[in-house]
Amino acid sequence: MTRCYNFCAGPAALPESVLEIARDEMLDWHGAGLSLMEMSHRSPEVVNVAERAQQTLRNLLGISEDYAVLFLQGGASTQFSAVPLNLLDGGGAVDYVNTGQWSRKAIAEARRYADVNVVASSEDTNYSTIPAKQTWQLGTEAAYLHYTPNETIGGVEFFWTPKVDVPLVADMSSTLLSRPIEVNDFGVIYAGAQKNIGPAGLTLVIVHRSLLGRADDQCPAMLNWQTAADNDSMYNTPPTYALYLSGLVFDWLQNLGGLQAMAAINRRKAEKLYSAIDTSSYYSNPVELASRSSMNIPFTLADPAQDKMFLQESEAAGLLNLKGHRSVGGMRASIYNAVPEKAVDALIAFMQDFEQRNG
Ligand SMILES: *Cc1c(COP(=O)(O)O)cnc(C)c1O
Repeated sequence: MTRCYNFCAGPAALPESVLEIARDEMLDWHGAGLSLMEMSHRSPEVVNVAERAQQTLRNLLGISEDYAVLFLQGGASTQFSAVPLNLLDGGGAVDYVNTGQWSRKAIAEARRYADVNVVASSEDTNYSTIPAKQTWQLGTEAAYLHYTPNETIGGVEFFWTPKVDVPLVADMSSTLLSRPIEVNDFGVIYAGAQKNIGPAGLTLVIVHRSLLGRADDQCPAMLNWQTAADNDSMYNTPPTYALYLSGLVFDWLQNLGGLQAMAAINRRKAEKLYSAIDTSSYYSNPVELASRSSMNIPFTLADPAQDKMFLQESEAAGLLNLKGHRSVGGMRASIYNAVPEKAVDALIAFMQDFEQRNG
């Protein structure tokens, strides 16, 4: 068996040890005589798996009982609608920061339900910067402020938290669990699982309980956070297997030493790769220094005509999914939690060799 190094932006790499546990438990989960996939979500066993996953996640992130933790479906994209539907009772104004492609999608969806005030945008720099907080034009009547702490496509990350007087809502799909955060700074945090949490199919919402019960009558039950909270995320059949795998990822993180330890590893990985890019005259990264993502690192080649060859050769070398998004061009290496440091070392060695041969 050869496992390659996977730099996919999502669905992304999972820890190998988690996949091994899942393999060993696939046919007979803990002596139950069947796969967890085949068990009722109402069974004590599955309920316990869900409760344990939630508890470990609470420990990792330091989530207090003031917050509900919801395991939902539909991806982060469904939360683009759920956020206004849950926080606006019958319309009103909302503030959004536009720092990239995911911000834009969240804004477009919110416009169906609310008067969206774009408080700041970095579109004029092709999303390679974060507008300084003092330039933000905050609304006076906004029900909340929404932003995207890590723009997965542009590779732009906030290393500071905006302090505002309204509930702060964050799409943390590609940064959650990469480092410690102060959950108390946020009204709502949401994330699709397929980056740092687990497999696709699960969506995580962490919401301050004071923000529950505000949903519009028109809000579908499946999007209503209060309904999910009242039913322990089992209003309908939850994605049980994705939940189980995510619980294994949380255990893996805990055993590694938690988010502080994970953050140190992630910082090292990112610094190595940025340093390799910066010391070369062949590769470059367009993002302003202070906002360079530690999870998603886009880079371009001096000669874009060599992109195709770079991709073919890197794939042949077992370095997968390095193609960048068309809006940025070139390459993108997503180096989430489960991408080991030796994968980054292998990528850097490949890049240096490629440059020597073609630069
Ligand atoms: C991946 C991603 C999304 C989309 O997630 P889905 O689960 O596919 O809907 C949204 N926002 C960010 C920041 C992402 O990285």
